[in-house]
Amino acid sequence: MKTILLIFGTRPEAIKLCPLVRELQTRQGVRTLVCATGQHLEMLDPVLEAFGVTPDFRLAAARPDGDLPGLTAAVLAGVSGVLTETRPDLALVQGDTTTAFAGALACFYAHVPVGHVEAGLRTYDIDRPWPEEFDRRAVTLMSRWHFAPTEEARQNLLAEGVPEESVFVTGNTVLDALRTTVREDYVNPVLEWAADSRLILITAHRRENLGAPMERMFRAIRRVMDEHPDVKAVYPVHLNPAVHRTAHAALCGHSRILLTEPMGLTDFHNLMARSYLILTDSGGIQEEAPSLGKPVLVMRDTTERPEGVAAGTLKLVSTEEETIYREFSRLLDDPAAYAAMAGAVNPYGDGHASRHIADILLERL
Ligand code: UDP
Repeated sequence: MKTILLIFGTRPEAIKLCPLVRELQTRQGVRTLVCATGQHLEMLDPVLEAFGVTPDFRLAAARPDGDLPGLTAAVLAGVSGVLTETRPDLALVQGDTTTAFAGALACFYAHVPVGHVEAGLRTYDIDRPWPEEFDRRAVTLMSRWHFAPTEEARQNLLAEGVPEESVFVTGNTVLDALRTTVREDYVNPVLEWAADSRLILITAHRRENLGAPMERMFRAIRRVMDEHPDVKAVYPVHLNPAVHRTAHAALCGHSRILLTEPMGLTDFHNLMARSYLILTDSGGIQEEAPSLGKPVLVMRDTTERPEGVAAGTLKLVSTEEETIYREFSRLLDDPAAYAAMAGAVNPYGDGHASRHIADILLERL
């Protein structure tokens, strides 16, 4: 019997690792353990519920107001304790969070091999996204197996000298998640509210966008919304207190902009599937939207997900007010520009990445 410990802490990691937890739970000869570090609290539970996953360990690493050193130390100490108790044959981390970095570091110190899911994404700008670009490069250094979502990500790893036999292109597990959540018969009061309008979905939470960049984004969005009475927008506001304050100050009180709590995964995916377009600085949404054929204006200067840009579904619009205003207006006013971005493409595999990762791991353990 081999023990595999999956370590995650934030909503996006849970969305992308829960399908793999479920897959591993169906395999013979594997004990699957889950450690939730607590980096996110309220935002994690709806994801766990959507997949029916119950963590074996729940740490309390969350720190108020983005205290990164405190969070890093708490994850490192907490995961180290879990490793001592469970002695896994392998640990899996996902993506580029503080949990992924400090969790992998705990494994490195404890001589537990690490598999990195969603390996090889890069902007090659260490400050953007921050601290994620550092986190994922550091996780690469500490990992034995690298599960790249695309050939492009694999090439990044090979160019950095990662041994070829340790890198596998598997697709992205986010598509496994989408396959289970998007439903034809889905209903929601938000969809009724927006039934006579084009529905815009907004999210924003990146740390490097806090403060002035986020204020510029929201000013641009509000101006466009004022000028388009046939458009309604829904914005599930991230629980980071700084995001919450800025979003409510800038967008509250507009009759066609609905600010909500973060949504459950099933709700969010189904709203995304029925939206007209999406404005975001999120990473995961850049992977989900292309396969749903939804244009995404990415409010960032760089992206580690060039596949969607190359396919034409994503456009980088920076955090400048005038650029966001212009591009958002254009997509609403120019049907040809909209149609050019709305074709569904899927650079992220066949929706069975979890199965491929489980096969590779079990063959090697
Ligand atoms: N998401 C969600 N509820 C929301 C907003 C987003 O479940 O209210 C999902 C979304 O579908 C995507 C993930 O959360 O899978 C993205 O998370 P986030 O933008 O927080 O992180 P990032 O992907 O930028 O690391």
